[in-house]
Amino acid sequence: MRVLIVEDEKKMAGFIARGLKEEGYVVDTAYDGETGWEYASTNDYDAIILDWMLPKMNGLEVCTKLRKEGLRTPIMILTARDEVEDKIKGLNQGADDYLTKPFSFDELLARLRALLRRPQELAKEKILISGNLKMDLLARRVTVGQEEIPLSQKEFSLLEYLMRHKGEVVNRIQIAEHVWDLHFDPMTNTIDVYINFLRKKIDGAHSKSRIETVRGHGYRLLES
Ligand code: CA
Repeated sequence: MRVLIVEDEKKMAGFIARGLKEEGYVVDTAYDGETGWEYASTNDYDAIILDWMLPKMNGLEVCTKLRKEGLRTPIMILTARDEVEDKIKGLNQGADDYLTKPFSFDELLARLRALLRRPQELAKEKILISGNLKMDLLARRVTVGQEEIPLSQKEFSLLEYLMRHKGEVVNRIQIAEHVWDLHFDPMTNTIDVYINFLRKKIDGAHSKSRIETVRGHGYRLLES
């Protein structure tokens, strides 16, 4: 899952980003409201963590603008203020949850997971299936038949992206945008290396891989 953090305090942003990466999330960070809005409207995130007090455009303005544009991604507002009126105002502007600073990382993670679990907030599925391959995105479990397949965080994100687009050819740039963060260079062979790791793990004894190489275009996860 990919999360956007919009927070101008670099220490705070770094603390949240590090914690989320350790939990297997792909994380992008923006340090002002304008950039945050730009990232949120051009990339595909599963959730957005948005600080209230931000340079250029504040968190509430960003949130209102994104909702007006039709974005339905869950948004969690962070703020140092704790007045009840502010809380209500934030939720009225289209935020889904609200976290008052200071908070523990565990609390943020629990609230984020709760947001991602809300079915009405998300059009995206939480269990992906292709033949006997099954991914439970919230439990972060992958099984082939009855067998559980341990995957690294990157392998998991890569498989998730291929599963969401099964039957379609996805190119390296699309993969890089969804599985790696904005600083990744899609022209290195890292993607191919990870595709091979995945094949070894999910293909089992099958001679034909579930992940097809489409020469000159990219990769395709076969339907079953
Ligand atoms: Ca701030």
